[in-house]
Amino acid sequence: MTQPVPFVDLKAQFRAISHEVVPRMMAVMESAGFILGHDVALFEEHFATYVGTRYCVGVESGTAALELGLRALAIGPGDEVIIPANTFIASALAVSAVGASPVLVEMDSAYLIDPELLESAVTPRTKAIMPVHLYGQAVPMDPILAFARRHGLRVIEDACQAHGARYKGGRAGSFGDVGCFSFYPGKNLGAYGDAGAVVCNDASLNDSIRLLHDLGQAKKYVHVVKGDNCRLDSLQAAVLDVKLTHLDGWNAARRNHAAAYDRLLREIGIEAPVNLHDEGHVYHLYVIEVENRDSVQAALRERGVATGVHYPIPIHLQRAYADLGLGPGSFPLTERSAARVLSLPMFPELTDDQIVCVVDALASCRPLLV
Ligand SMILES: *Cc1c(COP(=O)(O)O)cnc(C)c1O
Repeated sequence: MTQPVPFVDLKAQFRAISHEVVPRMMAVMESAGFILGHDVALFEEHFATYVGTRYCVGVESGTAALELGLRALAIGPGDEVIIPANTFIASALAVSAVGASPVLVEMDSAYLIDPELLESAVTPRTKAIMPVHLYGQAVPMDPILAFARRHGLRVIEDACQAHGARYKGGRAGSFGDVGCFSFYPGKNLGAYGDAGAVVCNDASLNDSIRLLHDLGQAKKYVHVVKGDNCRLDSLQAAVLDVKLTHLDGWNAARRNHAAAYDRLLREIGIEAPVNLHDEGHVYHLYVIEVENRDSVQAALRERGVATGVHYPIPIHLQRAYADLGLGPGSFPLTERSAARVLSLPMFPELTDDQIVCVVDALASCRPLLV
C-alpha cells in the first residue's frame, strides 16, 4: 500500500525550523512588545529588501493588503478596477470593500489575465488594474504597465501567491504602484496565523498605507485620517522574519518538484502546466487539467493522495457576485478550467517518492482521464 501524500505539510516544515522559530517567538513574549514592535519593523525592512522595493508595511492579511493598497491610491465608490476573472475571490472582494467595482477579464493559457483583452474592459470610470500572479507565476508585466500608462491607471499587484516569483529583472510585487502579499499559513511564505504586507516605492504612498493600517494615527491618539486597524502583530513578524531566510531555498525545492512532475506526467500523457519564466515560477500551486476532475480527485483520495481545486466556482458565478449580472458563458476559458483544474501536492518538503506516488495514482485513474 502506498503512503498517504498530503496536499501541504506544514507540520514537517515546523519540525525543520522550530529550533529557529520558537526562540524568536519566546523573545517576543518575554519582551511583551506584541504590537508594532521591533520584530515588525525588522521584518518590514527585510521583506522590502527581498522584494526589491523601498517600503513595506506589515498588515493582518492579504485581503487587508489589497484593500489598503486600493484605499491609499484613493480608489473608491464609482471607480472601476480591472481584475482577472480567474483568481481567488479575495482579489474581487478587496475592490468591493473599498466601494469600487471589479471588472473581470478572461484568462490566457497560463491562467493569467489576458493582456489582449484589456482594452475592451476600459470605461471612463476605470481607475486601476490588478494583475494577479496566480499559482506562483508572475504576470508578464510589460504589457500591463504599458496599458496602465496609456490609460493613466494605477497598478495594484496581487502577489499573494507569488512570494519571490520573478519577471525579467524584478520580483512580483515590485512593478506596480503597490504590491500586496498574503502570509496565510499555506502560502510560500506563511505565518502561524493570518498576516500580509503591502510594498511600494513611493514615500507618500507608504505614509498613507502606514496611517491607514493603524487607525489613522500620526502619533498616539492623534488621528489624521479615518484609518482601520489591520496591523501585523509582532509574533507573526518574528515567525515571518525567520521563514524569509528560507524562502529562496523552499522556492527552489518547489521548482525541482515541478520539474519532476513535468517529466513524469508527460510519460503518462498528462500535459504539464505552462511555465512562462523558467526559474521565475515559484509554484505556489502545481495545477494540471483533467477530464472528470471530481471523479479523479475522489479516486486519488481513495489512494491516499490529497489534492486541491483552485478554484471550483469562478467569481462571476458566485452568489456574492450575482450583482455583476454575468451568467454562465461570460468567461468560457475560466469556466472550463474551473471544471478541469486539479492542484497536485506541492510543498518544499515533498519527497521524490511522494511525487512518484502521486503520478502512479494518477496513472491508475487513466480510464477516468480520457
Ligand atoms: C490568499 C490570497 C489572497 C488573500 O489573502 P488572505 O491573507 O487570505 O486574506 C488574495 N489573493 C490571492 C490571489 C490569494 O491567493
